Amino acid sequence: MTEARRIAINKITKVILNSSTVTSPFSYENLYKIVQIFGGSIKNEKLEKFTYVMIKVKGEHNFTITYREDEPEEEKLYTIAHELGHYFLHITDDNGHPKDTYIDSPLFRRGVSSEEDEANEFASALLMPEDIFNSYIDSNKVEQTININKVAKHFNVTPAVALNRGKALGRFL
Ligand SMILES: [Zn+2]
Repeated sequence: MTEARRIAINKITKVILNSSTVTSPFSYENLYKIVQIFGGSIKNEKLEKFTYVMIKVKGEHNFTITYREDEPEEEKLYTIAHELGHYFLHITDDNGHPKDTYIDSPLFRRGVSSEEDEANEFASALLMPEDIFNSYIDSNKVEQTININKVAKHFNVTPAVALNRGKALGRFL
């Protein structure tokens, strides 16, 4: 992902946040509100083996994000936000027509393709906007150290996701 693309993705998440009444740190209910603004809904289901999470687009402003019923609680928000990233960034084909289904691989968190990297950047930027993340770190660090588990809990993500965001923003080594 180029730096320009990274900046563009962060800007898109800002526009989305500005168009809603909710903001980070997210709860499941608040994230659901964002999905609803754009005509989406969320379901959890027993999905087929190797299907991790998916989006089905039924028309303009009408889509469903389905995640596994056994999705761990602390990964739920990131998974949904990651799919929203695909919805905003990758759901059209080369001719601008919407694809009707987008299925994620179980490897998505490892960023195995540029689309995965971009959806991960989108999810991190939506759940941990730069200004909100930075001010949380600034007001909670103690002698230049911060408890990453506490940061993760605050933003409702896993410690690995919080750590990556801090590194990407140049806050953590
Ligand atoms: Zn993905």
